[in-house]
Amino acid sequence: MRQSILFPSIGFVLVYLGKTSNGLELNNNNQRKNYKVTRHFDSLDSIRSEALFASMSASSSRSGGPNNVRRSIGPAFTNLGGSKDGVNNRSNDDYKNAAESKIGRLEELKQQEADLARQLAEIRTEKLSALRSKPLTIGVIGFGRFGQFISKTFAKHGNIVVTSRSDYTDIANEMGAEYVPLSDPQAFLDKNLDVIIVATSIVSFESTVKTLTPYLKEFVSTGKKGPLLVDVLSVKEHARDILLNYLPEECDILCTHPMFGPDSGKNGWKNLNFVFEKTRVDRVVFDPSSHIDFENIPSNDKVYNEAFSYIESMDRIERFLSIWEEEGCRMVPLSCKSHDEYAANSQFITHLMGRILGAQGLQKTPIDTKGFESVLKLIDSTTADSFDLFYGLYKYNKRNSQSIIHQLQAAMDDVVDNLRVLEIEEIKKQDVQSGQENEPKQNSMASTTGSKEMGSYHRT
Ligand code: NAP
Repeated sequence: MRQSILFPSIGFVLVYLGKTSNGLELNNNNQRKNYKVTRHFDSLDSIRSEALFASMSASSSRSGGPNNVRRSIGPAFTNLGGSKDGVNNRSNDDYKNAAESKIGRLEELKQQEADLARQLAEIRTEKLSALRSKPLTIGVIGFGRFGQFISKTFAKHGNIVVTSRSDYTDIANEMGAEYVPLSDPQAFLDKNLDVIIVATSIVSFESTVKTLTPYLKEFVSTGKKGPLLVDVLSVKEHARDILLNYLPEECDILCTHPMFGPDSGKNGWKNLNFVFEKTRVDRVVFDPSSHIDFENIPSNDKVYNEAFSYIESMDRIERFLSIWEEEGCRMVPLSCKSHDEYAANSQFITHLMGRILGAQGLQKTPIDTKGFESVLKLIDSTTADSFDLFYGLYKYNKRNSQSIIHQLQAAMDDVVDNLRVLEIEEIKKQDVQSGQENEPKQNSMASTTGSKEMGSYHRT
């Protein structure tokens, strides 16, 4: 599933870890550096294959003759000094000398390989620090209530390009962002976006991603690194499934849910929860039930530590996450599955109660208690969100949200039953009490009259 780009460049990881940003100029320079990187990949590969042939021919010389090897590698062997004349007419000394010269060449090639690996590591480090010093270009799809809310803050950290069905040119310009109509996905992708956040309604999420997919496929087919796709949907397993199903594997995926919105976050994002799952990083898909844990990759895992594109992907994800962190969010790494289980018990029930209470048509009164003020606040904040959002919470986390509805109905019945039980007990108590109050009277009457028809004296 993943390309494993394994280089024996232990130095790379060390150099990468040791260097800091040197504030390089980007733009044209950056393009040139990309080219340099590619070129070094090529040279490194050709030196490696030469080294491989040298080692094969050296070992086959040592083992008495290169016939088999020569057959399998053909001209390459010949280029490295192998003879086409067969081996029978050669002395042992000839073989020894040939083997020694090939071992000498092998050492030379190994040295060249190490030099190139070091150069490559340096270029990559420089590229990473150049990337880090360049602000992210962030595209936002869906510039509605939530899209505008996050874009306003993002505009402090990077370049923002937004796209939406409705024309939001003015609002976008006001916050220093650029607006591109949703009907022109190509123009949107042409903005060289590092990150694309999909902030459309939950119910339109699939169709939005589906429409974008062919353009993304076209984009990555040119060999460019795909942008990081981020969703902010209030339901996570649905978003995860859609992104993994549709997007080309060259696109990294980060599933997130900021647990706040334009109301709760209007005074800043400090201490507000931000949930995220690094769903796909450099083609490796996070599986909550497997050992792959992007937060805690074992240091001896060469595949992850040495693959440059993996480091580049992680770097971009971390830079994006650091925006939320810098704004003071409480960062919560959590699988999409666990998110949906928790969210039904917290978020859906909040929206459900807000909607139910809102449907009562409750109004402010001149003698409101603090408790009632909170009720009105809950109604205001939940009904300020679109019904699409509420419906999405229900539909795309159905198993959990339905069980919440059933539990709520049962809890409502229980609470009302408790009230009734208390009420019935009270009535019974009153009856017993009134019965006891009547008893002495009846007794005394009976004794004075001697009547056997005691019933005729009971209180009505
Ligand atoms: P929403 O009603 O869920 O979504 C409105 C957005 O969806 C608008 O940008 C709208 O574009 C777009 N949209 C609706 N139907 C569309 C369609 N058929 N095709 C393309 N775009 C469509 O309200 P929201 O509050 O802005 O939420 C947006 C997303 O953020 C949702 O996924 C929600 O779960 C998530 N979120 C919201 C909050 C919150 O507090 N509101 C918090 C966390 C996460 P136009 O405006 O151009 O029509």
